[in-house]
Amino acid sequence: MAVSREYPPTAAEREDGGHSRVHLDSRVIVARSPRTGDVLGQVPVATPLHIQTAFAEARLGQIAWERIGVRRRLIFIRALRDALYRQRERIISILMAEQGKVLAEAQFEHLAVMEMVDHYLRIGERVLAPVPVTVRLQPHRRFVIERRAYGVVLVISPWNYPLFLSVGPIVGALLAGNSVVYKPSEYATQVGEVIAAAIAEAGIPPEVFHILHGDGAVGKALIEAHPDKIAFTGSVPTGKKIARAAAERLIPVTLELGGKDAALVLEDADIPHAARGIIWAGMFNAGQTCASVERVIVVRQVADRLLEEMKRAIQEHLLDPAGRPVLSTLAAVTTPFQIEIVEAQVNEAVTGGARVIIGGRRLRELGGQFYAPTILADVTPEMRICREETFGPVVAVLQAEDEQDAIRLNNDSAFGLTASVWTQDRERGLRVARQLRVGHVSVNSHLVISGISEVPWGGVKESGYGRMHGEEGLLQMTCSQTVDVERVRLPVEPFWYPYHPAKLGLARRLVDALYGPTLRDRLRAFWR
Ligand code: NAD
Repeated sequence: MAVSREYPPTAAEREDGGHSRVHLDSRVIVARSPRTGDVLGQVPVATPLHIQTAFAEARLGQIAWERIGVRRRLIFIRALRDALYRQRERIISILMAEQGKVLAEAQFEHLAVMEMVDHYLRIGERVLAPVPVTVRLQPHRRFVIERRAYGVVLVISPWNYPLFLSVGPIVGALLAGNSVVYKPSEYATQVGEVIAAAIAEAGIPPEVFHILHGDGAVGKALIEAHPDKIAFTGSVPTGKKIARAAAERLIPVTLELGGKDAALVLEDADIPHAARGIIWAGMFNAGQTCASVERVIVVRQVADRLLEEMKRAIQEHLLDPAGRPVLSTLAAVTTPFQIEIVEAQVNEAVTGGARVIIGGRRLRELGGQFYAPTILADVTPEMRICREETFGPVVAVLQAEDEQDAIRLNNDSAFGLTASVWTQDRERGLRVARQLRVGHVSVNSHLVISGISEVPWGGVKESGYGRMHGEEGLLQMTCSQTVDVERVRLPVEPFWYPYHPAKLGLARRLVDALYGPTLRDRLRAFWR
């Protein structure tokens, strides 16, 4: 394979410092399993010509795609749902092979995708329907808010939930009448290909959907091609780069970025239940979830009991009786650079005084990329493990004096994706939830929300802006266009020229009649 000199950059030149198992120095990306290192396949890296052609076709195709209307587009999306159903086994096996997922978690991702597509099928026609509005200053005209497509939507997605985080925005964008240029993560090319195959199987016109492969350099080039909207899911540093590049071109962006989610365990929590929920939400997909529990903020008086129960939950579900990891429950760490970050953060925390309750090391003896399910106690807020994202099966436990202290510790974070409150008093849970600066709070649950379709999804602060899922996720793939048409032609237009004396009092009369604080003020409009 010929080696490119200018484009794309070599692995060593890449922004991840070359921590890569993909080979971008040639014109292909080779996908390897993080469990075994086996080669799974390869895809071509997009060239500038591919990018130019994809955008040109997408622009042209979009016009007819929008024009056919939502009802006909729904037929295609229904066919896509059916194709994703038929491809279930293939999709699940690719998620396991390429991302290192365990069977149950690959199945959950497929389920979440089916539900997402079905959700859009259920709400599409209603949410995208024109909305008539009565405008009281213009009663002689009919106003309708219509939802128009942006044009070409660029979808850039990460590797941790490559199916769910790609299909959601792709389907939302297509249903709203946009065409899509899609760049999967360079660590999820095989998943990207299976999505593209399902879209082709559904008969969606090829000009309205284009898949292009590559790393950050290709992502950058795609933004330079000037899409009309960008739907990005990924890390904070990349999100900031994308926001800057988009700002230069005034392209609207949705940014779904990282998290440092906390579970707040109050003194009245059901401790065994909280421990099981926290361990599941911290270890699911080996902790490689934007909304996984990374910090546990526990009120001091129940801290020891919680640690004990959390350790028990790991021993029960993730380890066998001999203490070896159960590989049908513990996923692999998908990328080599993430496992290095996890190792560095844990080691630094331990050097700084954190106590390893269980785990705390890389499982080199298993081959592949595995990290032991880990609980760290005596963690302090300034440690890197409390401030930066940890994409591994690690939960860091901080102690709080009381409820208010727990709220303060939660909000003392650059991130604001989700959080959970664990208490047996549901009213108290709601009261605490409202004081947390995050996009979503669960009481006595965590993480499940990230796969739910009916409610909006997204964070605050450095966790990003814009929303996916719910109705907002679909609406954000559109811009409103208001059209107003005359119902009747007035003999005299009240606001147009000429400003003859009868019109001069009009604005005053209207202000009196509509906004006068008292009845007397309002009646003044008619005395004039
Ligand atoms: P990443 O930011 O490294 O990459 C994400 C995507 O951006 C990839 O496709 C990558 O090729 C592309 N990219 C990289 N540099 C680019 C550039 N300069 N211009 C355009 N595109 C570029 O993230 P990742 O490691 O793939 O994914 C993990 C991150 O995603 C974590 O931070 C996680 O929290 C976050 N995430 C967020 C959500 C959410 O909904 N908030 C969901 C899942 C993952």
